[in-house]
Amino acid sequence: MANPTIKKRNILNQAKKQKRCMMCVKQCSHADYKDLRLLSTYLSSFARILPRRYTGTCVRHQKMVTNAIKKSRLMGLLPYTIHHKQYAKGE
Ligand SMILES: [Zn+2]
Repeated sequence: MANPTIKKRNILNQAKKQKRCMMCVKQCSHADYKDLRLLSTYLSSFARILPRRYTGTCVRHQKMVTNAIKKSRLMGLLPYTIHHKQYAKGE
């Protein structure tokens, strides 16, 4: 008789997808701080930078994206937190 825990573990492994760095797939050489569409994909709903374990980004591109987001925040294009987003709307 098969062990039910092993069967459950196999189902979980099949459902798990291999994460890929989307910037490597698109062959992006650098992340532009003005490209808000790209940068917003690496932000959470609370406007925090998502870690590599969620996005699957490689080390090189994660550093590029992080620097671009920080530069964009300094320029005022992206919010630092969700509270900054609310103040920008005037609420
Ligand atoms: Zn990459």
